Amino acid sequence: MKNMNSASFFPNLSLFGKRDSQISCKGDGDQMSTIYGKLRCPLCSMIIKRQDKVVLDMINTVIHYECYHTYTSEKTLLPIKDEGSFRKMVATYEFFWG
Ligand SMILES: [Zn+2]
Repeated sequence: MKNMNSASFFPNLSLFGKRDSQISCKGDGDQMSTIYGKLRCPLCSMIIKRQDKVVLDMINTVIHYECYHTYTSEKTLLPIKDEGSFRKMVATYEFFWG
């Protein structure tokens, strides 16, 4: 409890601390950025950007969320293992990091 109180005694310090960590974390997802700009959605052939909402299927194929749900009625697609922003997927699954 004492530590929590001291943080509120120094609001500027905690603000600076937060800002510092944001700066140092800025490259957090970007450090493993070799994948960005290279991976294409197999359905629309567009480069998948880090902020795109995607799904990850059972064999770890990254597909745009929109595309998956657009084509899923026409094609037989594998079940979704996970979904979210591409950036989140890269941060979550280490097979992207190589
Ligand atoms: Zn797509």
